[in-house]
Amino acid sequence: MHSIADRLAQVRERIALAARACNRDPASITLLAVSKTKPVSAVQQAIEAGQRHFGENYLQDALEKIQALPNPDLVWHFIGPIQSNKTRAIAEHFDWVHSVDRLKIAQRLNDQRPEGLPPLNVCIQVNISREDAKAGILPEGAAELARAVNALPRLRLRGLMAIPRASKASSEQLAPLQALTALQKQIKTELSELDTLSMGMSADLEAAVAAGATLVRIGTDIFGARQ
Ligand SMILES: *Cc1c(COP(=O)(O)O)cnc(C)c1O
Repeated sequence: MHSIADRLAQVRERIALAARACNRDPASITLLAVSKTKPVSAVQQAIEAGQRHFGENYLQDALEKIQALPNPDLVWHFIGPIQSNKTRAIAEHFDWVHSVDRLKIAQRLNDQRPEGLPPLNVCIQVNISREDAKAGILPEGAAELARAVNALPRLRLRGLMAIPRASKASSEQLAPLQALTALQKQIKTELSELDTLSMGMSADLEAAVAAGATLVRIGTDIFGARQ
């Protein structure tokens, strides 16, 4: 078994290699360690290995870790589906939310973001492969939602997020990732301050970096398989 520190080093090396292969600066890609379902001790090991950004999908699971690790250097990202009754706790305890896919949820997060905190960083989740069972707004609705979210003062719209259809062949992975990049580029003609493309997981990290990801969300390859 490799340690979490070893696995993190390997993932960082993969990001660096993928970036160099397409003439990108590795420092322009943020590594989000997806610690969902993993214990505080695993997150602690990643922190000791220098990791600062953590991604969580399940609110209760996340809140326990956030409270157990009161470290102001940590940046907590909510990346799971959001029900209305969870928005208050998310607005209070997270720095980022990647899974906003409808205006009602954005409005609640805006209204519930505490005064003393900076605006909540938000990405709009796009159902880029148009899968029936998947969360996210369809690509044709993304620009309108982006405009509306951008107008909310307690949110800071950072960009788009997607989980493309799973595919092992890198040739098939590339097309939906490039489609998200193109959509972001189009929206940036209006909203030029967008700076984040949240895409790439353990299985498609390299393709995501090649397609232009600025933030990759890696769980399994850092923390091991989940139950
Ligand atoms: C679980 C999850 C990840 C991490 O996936 P791995 O395949 O374990 O790297 C990334 N993004 C989202 C939205 C997830 O739910």
